[in-house]
Amino acid sequence: MFVATGSLERTGKLKHAPPKQRGSGTGGACFSLPNARLRAEFSFPKLVLGVLLSWMCAAALAPTRADILRGEYGQYRANNDLLYYHLDIRVDPEKKFIGGKNTIRFRMLKDDTRIQLDLHEALQVDKILLGATALHYQRDSGAVFVDFPEMLRAGRVYSIDFYYSGNPVETGRFGGITFRKDASGHPWVNTACEGIGASVWWPNKDQWRDEVENMRISVAIPNGLVDVSNGKFMGKTDLGDGYTRWDWRVHYPINNYDVSLNIGNYEHFADRLGGLPLDFYALPEDLEKARKQFAQAKGMLEAFQHYFGEYPFRKDGYKLIEAPYSGMEHQSAVTYGNHFANGYLERDWTGVGISPRFDFIIVHESAHEWFGNSITAADQSDMWIHEAWATYLECLYVEYRWGREDALKYTNGYKSKVANAQPIIAPRGVNSEPPQDMYFKGALFLNTLRSVVDDDGRWWALLHGFYQHFKYRNIMTEDVVGYFNRKTGMNLTPVFDQYLRHTALPMLELRFDDAKGTVSYRWKADEPAFAMPVRVGVKDHWRIIRPTTVWQTMETTVPRDRFEVATDLYYVNVAK
Ligand SMILES: [Zn+2]
Repeated sequence: MFVATGSLERTGKLKHAPPKQRGSGTGGACFSLPNARLRAEFSFPKLVLGVLLSWMCAAALAPTRADILRGEYGQYRANNDLLYYHLDIRVDPEKKFIGGKNTIRFRMLKDDTRIQLDLHEALQVDKILLGATALHYQRDSGAVFVDFPEMLRAGRVYSIDFYYSGNPVETGRFGGITFRKDASGHPWVNTACEGIGASVWWPNKDQWRDEVENMRISVAIPNGLVDVSNGKFMGKTDLGDGYTRWDWRVHYPINNYDVSLNIGNYEHFADRLGGLPLDFYALPEDLEKARKQFAQAKGMLEAFQHYFGEYPFRKDGYKLIEAPYSGMEHQSAVTYGNHFANGYLERDWTGVGISPRFDFIIVHESAHEWFGNSITAADQSDMWIHEAWATYLECLYVEYRWGREDALKYTNGYKSKVANAQPIIAPRGVNSEPPQDMYFKGALFLNTLRSVVDDDGRWWALLHGFYQHFKYRNIMTEDVVGYFNRKTGMNLTPVFDQYLRHTALPMLELRFDDAKGTVSYRWKADEPAFAMPVRVGVKDHWRIIRPTTVWQTMETTVPRDRFEVATDLYYVNVAK
C-alpha cells in the first residue's frame, strides 16, 4: 500500500487521510500539532509539557475494545488454522449491495466449541451453517463469535458456510469498498481495505497471522461488466438472470485484505514474461495510455526476480488493473491509479530527479508481491516488513536500472520525509498501525544495514536468502533479526532495535583534540549495547571505525572542519 501523502482519485473524492492515530483521527496530532502549537503559544516548563503530552498521548492511544477484538490473536482465533475460503457473492452496483456466502474451511488446533470470525457491523449475518445445522453466533463490534453445538476436535477439519448481505459502508482511507461510476457512467466498484480490514465487505477471520492455503472467488455481476479478482481466471458463466458469474482461483496463501474486487467496464490486454502470464485491465478511454505505461511491469519484474527469485504467484499470473485510487498491492492483481505517468501522482517523489524515470506505483505496489504478500507480517505492528522492504525495493529497482550512485541519491532523497517521532514498530495485538516512518526511515535503515554488512556480494546473497527462507510465511521482526544475526554472525539486534523500536537516530559524537591530533568518538543511542561500524574521514578514502556507546580515541590528520561521516551510506546523526 502507499498512503504517505494526500493522493486522490479522479473525482477527487477519495483523498487519503493522514496515517491513523488511534482515538485522535487527525493523524499524528498528539505528537506534532499540539506540541508545536503549545511551544509557540505557551512557555510551559519542559517537564510540565512533557508530562502533559505523555498523558494526552496515553489517553489517545488506549486501544478500544473493537481494536483488541480486531488486533489480538485471541483464544478463539488461535484454536484453529485456516485452510480455505470460497467467497461466492453477488454484487449489485446500482443498489451498492452485496450478498452471498463465504465457505470457510479450517483445522481445529484445540478442542473447542467456539471460533471468532469478523464482519463489519453494517453488514447482516443471514445464517451460518455447519452442513445443514444453523449455528448460533454472537456479534461484538466487528467480531462474530460462532458457537458449535458439539465439541470440535483438535486435528479435525471443519467447513462452515457464512451467509451475509447488506450495503457495506465506505470507510477508511481508501474507502474499503467503493461503488462509483467511471467518466462514461459505467459502474466502477473497487476494494482497498488494508487498514479497515477485509471484513468491511466480506466475512473472514480478519487478522494477519493466519492465511488460507488457497481460495476461490466467485463474483456475480450485471452482464456486460468485468470482475477482476485475485488468482487465475477460471471462466465466466451467464446465470440467465441478467448476471454473469466470474470465477477466480488463488493457488497460494493470501492475506484477507489482498482479496479484491474490481468491477467495471474494463478492457483487457495480455503479454508474457518468459512463462509468466501478464494481464492488464484498463477503462476503454485509458487503454492506449495503459498499453504504454504498463509496459514498465516487465522491467520491474525482471529487477525483483534478479534480486529475490521467481515472481511468487506464478500459477496465478501477474495482473495490473486500473483503479480510482493511487494503488494497492492486491496479490497477483495489483491495482493502479497513478495517472499513467512516471513519478508518484506526477510528482518527483524523492525530489532528486530520479523518480520521474519510472512509475512509482507499478514499482512500489508490485514490490509487495515479494514483501507483504509472499512474506507477510503476522501482526500489523510489524508492517515495516511490508513497507520498509517495498520502499527499499524501489531503491533496488533504481540500482538495477541506473546503478548504485543513482540508487543512493534516490534513497537519501527519502530523508526529508522522515519524522523520527514514533518508533517504527507499533504496539502488538491491538490493531495498531505504525507511523509513516516505516516506509522511508525503514528503507534508509536497510540501506544502512548494507553498509554494516559492508560486502555487496554477501548483501545480495543475504537478501535472496532472506526472501527464499521466509516466502509464503507470516513472520515478526524477531524472525528477521534472527535471520540476519545467524547469517552474518554479527549481533545486529541492538542495531535493529535502535532503528525500529526507538524514535531517535543514533548520533555519532566526535570530539577533536587538535593539539594531540586525535578524535574521540562514540554512539549516543537508546540501546546501551548499540555498536555499528561507520565510515569517516575523507570521502573516497573512508576509514571504517567501530564505535560503541563508550568513548574511543584515534589519531587523525584530518582537521575537524574536513572530517566527514558517510551519512549517505549510514542513516545517522553526527555531532562534532
Ligand atoms: Zn506499500
